[in-house]
Amino acid sequence: MILKGTPVSEGVALGGVYVYLPFLADVKESYCPEGEKKGHVERFLESRRKAIAKLAAVREGLAEEEAKIFDAHEDILNDEVMEEEIVELIQIHNYSGDWAIHTVYEKYASLLKGVKDPLIRERAADMIDARDQLLSFWSGGARPSLSKLKAPAIVAARDLFPLDTATLDRDNVLAIVTEAGGGTTSHAAIIARSRGIPAVLGVPRLMESVTDGQTAAVDAFGGELVLDPSPEEREFYQKRLDGWLAVRKENREFMAVEAKTADGWRIDIGLNVSSAEDEEVAGAAYCDSVGLFRTEFLYMGRSAPPSEAEQVSVYEKILTVFNPRPVILRTLDIGGDKTAECLDLPREDNPFLGVRGLRLCFSNPDLFLTQLRAALRASVSGQLWLMLPMVGSLDDIRLAKKYIAEAKAGLAGDGYPMADNVKIGVMIEIPSLAMVSDMVAQEVDFASLGSNDLCQYSCAADRQNAPAAGYYQPYHPGMFRLMGYAISAFSKAGKPISICGEMGGDPLAAAVLIGLGLRKLSLGLSSVGAMKRFLSTLTVPQAEELARTVQGLPTAADVQTYLREALADKSLPVQAAG
Ligand code: PEP
Ligand code: MG
Repeated sequence: MILKGTPVSEGVALGGVYVYLPFLADVKESYCPEGEKKGHVERFLESRRKAIAKLAAVREGLAEEEAKIFDAHEDILNDEVMEEEIVELIQIHNYSGDWAIHTVYEKYASLLKGVKDPLIRERAADMIDARDQLLSFWSGGARPSLSKLKAPAIVAARDLFPLDTATLDRDNVLAIVTEAGGGTTSHAAIIARSRGIPAVLGVPRLMESVTDGQTAAVDAFGGELVLDPSPEEREFYQKRLDGWLAVRKENREFMAVEAKTADGWRIDIGLNVSSAEDEEVAGAAYCDSVGLFRTEFLYMGRSAPPSEAEQVSVYEKILTVFNPRPVILRTLDIGGDKTAECLDLPREDNPFLGVRGLRLCFSNPDLFLTQLRAALRASVSGQLWLMLPMVGSLDDIRLAKKYIAEAKAGLAGDGYPMADNVKIGVMIEIPSLAMVSDMVAQEVDFASLGSNDLCQYSCAADRQNAPAAGYYQPYHPGMFRLMGYAISAFSKAGKPISICGEMGGDPLAAAVLIGLGLRKLSLGLSSVGAMKRFLSTLTVPQAEELARTVQGLPTAADVQTYLREALADKSLPVQAAG
């Protein structure tokens, strides 16, 4: 059986399937002492509130039709009769909170299971699902993770949160296949790509088709999942796998070389990271800087935000490893597809257009100041470049600077030393800001092109929404004109500008950007070798010719076809991201 989805991270895998299921409740009969009843009721209500918020966040990442699947979950979690029964079991019958939740949900689930109408019977599964969500929050939001698999496997899941992907077992996950999702710049896709894990997302009917332990092949070039491959198919995919591994090995040999074009221009290669873990900082051996530290990942999968002290130690670690090379530490960019349960955020209808990133920090000054204080305290350990995400105007920059000044004043008052050369920069990812890059360059020390968001906001296509994927066009000539404008504004001002969106790791796009004057790219570690190899085959005049031409081509498809042809003789990966 062959299933099709969207390939978002190239590669091939062959092996057994591991079906990743969410939390499985393991609750035993138990009772609570008189004095603890109130606490158990409060903990139940709090768990329910968090489960509802999480559900809302999950639904936001889905197409309308898919989101409807969760209507039943929402109704169940909000059900007042069940709430009353749970509270009564705790208060009158001394049940512990989790036992009360389990008992009431089981009661209704078995009632539903007994009904003849199959549609109503299906609601029993929703009931169990909703119960497990609730119980996972009851037990502190602990949930299963992909961080340790027993053996190498192809992971099949309904959906993966950015956190699931960020913490997955690098040695044993052979590939990722999901039923939901599909955007090439969704954060699950970005992380899979930066770790070199083949991924195919948005595979319809995946979960009803796979079983745990089943043999499968994944071709994340063509977007195929082959279940129970025949001996001939196995042989075919094994050859593809060997071919892909050979190219990867060749690319890896380029990791340690200096990044230079064929005519000797030095290109600065930054690293995109989402933590300061050893595997991530190992990229220091091959890169000139950290071009993007997505600090929001520090806030995910926990019940309280990281303290100032905890953040200081993370930032100190990465600054020290890279010193004297710069570390671009991006301030918290929660929102869109990135949620943090510990932050208890209100639901928004259009989260990518809402109170995200810097805007969220402005509405939570304590959260923002804690992070700024931590970063500034760590600044003595290296070269700190602070970068602000989701900046739409000079007002945003000026307000952020006030917070930075406030954090500095507070730290000085508390007697903490700070480096005096901390740079302040912005992500250029909102078109309104890109269009005033000349003035932005007067206001900040550096900028980085956030092409993932710049594309979704310029093309008006949600980066997560698989059905809208055709409208999300990184190769749109308008994207190159816009980025070209920002690059020349910063170059004229003599201020550094780089790119840390996924286009920076895509040779076709990077070639055009170099032609537009960009000399700094920041990318995921797994793309570094291939990019250095590609650059060694490109000259700057060739890149300039590409840049001139693409800005005059009418459509994204024309640009892509032209670039593929014009660069056909260069060392390109089998399939460039886009
Ligand atoms: C971007 O938008 O291009 C970017 C690098 O940030 P993120 O993908 O985290 O939104
Ligand atoms: Mg962004």
